[in-house]
Amino acid sequence: MPKYENIQAKAYVVSSQGSPFVLQDVTLDGVQESEVLVEIKYTGLCHTDIVVRDGGMPIGGYPAVLGHEGVGIVREIGSGVKNKSLSPGETVILSFHTCGQCRSCGEGRLGGCPHMTEVNFINTARSKDSIKTPISLPDGTLVHGQFFGQSSMSNLAIVSEDSVVKIDAQPEDLQFLAPLSCGYLTGAGTVLNVLKPRPTDKVAVLGMGAVGLAALAAAKAIGVETLVAVDIFDAKLEKAMSLGATHKINSKDFVDINAGIKDIFPDGVDKIIDTTGSAALLNSSLNALGHEGTLALVGVPSPSSQLQVDALDFLLSCKKIVGVIEGLSDPKSIIPKLFSLYQENKFPIDKISTLYPAEDLDKAVADLKLGSVIKPILSWSSIHSSI
Ligand SMILES: [Zn+2]
Ligand SMILES: [Zn+2]
Repeated sequence: MPKYENIQAKAYVVSSQGSPFVLQDVTLDGVQESEVLVEIKYTGLCHTDIVVRDGGMPIGGYPAVLGHEGVGIVREIGSGVKNKSLSPGETVILSFHTCGQCRSCGEGRLGGCPHMTEVNFINTARSKDSIKTPISLPDGTLVHGQFFGQSSMSNLAIVSEDSVVKIDAQPEDLQFLAPLSCGYLTGAGTVLNVLKPRPTDKVAVLGMGAVGLAALAAAKAIGVETLVAVDIFDAKLEKAMSLGATHKINSKDFVDINAGIKDIFPDGVDKIIDTTGSAALLNSSLNALGHEGTLALVGVPSPSSQLQVDALDFLLSCKKIVGVIEGLSDPKSIIPKLFSLYQENKFPIDKISTLYPAEDLDKAVADLKLGSVIKPILSWSSIHSSI
């Protein structure tokens, strides 16, 4: 039997598609064999949470608790958890989970798992059990949980063990780490696992949000000498310069991004990372690729985007386009690596994050939409834990 049962928690519940996030009382039933109870300290806010709330991506049902960039402290471990080195009181980062059965999972490219949508959005890790979710409302209504194995927009969460990445941090070091699990891992993983630029490669990053800045910082960390930041906000471009960009382009100043890049580098650039999904940017950035150049698509393209590829040009210039989900990362290896880079001041994520008390989620969402902050992180410290 679990030590803690019928645990009282506070979580942001989305009651139906398009409904607001409402902070309310929920009950967690208790850990099952392969689950871990985590006291959530911080939750990063990712665009995906907002897209899912608004019905832009599928989810297993409503009401639901979202949140997929959690960090916190282990409170209880299920009897069947495979990682026997995990113990209560340890600090953990909660990442996405995968099917664990396919070739991509078997070979450590977890972000390449073809079942990401099923296991993170549609199903919970409890799919084989009769009660598929640990969360319920006070009136007994079941709430879809374990979004990305965690549903961490909550001060306590019963999570899938597959989402748990142990991290050797002090509790006071956790405040900027939550987005390592998705946003920063996506940007940095695209650079470290997929593009692998050489120091002499010219790398351009489109969109200076959390993913783009993390890509830029990771490229800088591995010694890339020429880094081009592209955005429409001057403040974000300045931030990029402070993180090591060598050139900045405000895409509003050019007819298309190809013209902006060719203005600086007439032969184009070697690698482009698109985090915007903007149809207009995508097509002109293809033309800004130099010989043997690669375009990595990271941002979710708007539904109307159609890539217009000149196949002969692609053949003759040996260009490539690659789609990248979650940086093709294995969270258990890349998160500790990025944490070490942060500790060595080579991956300065504290400069791109803004903390909000958990009660101020609406303000955090509004500021994110306005572009006045890059990465909002909710702190649960003002909400008392029941255990
Ligand atoms: Zn898989
Ligand atoms: Zn995310």
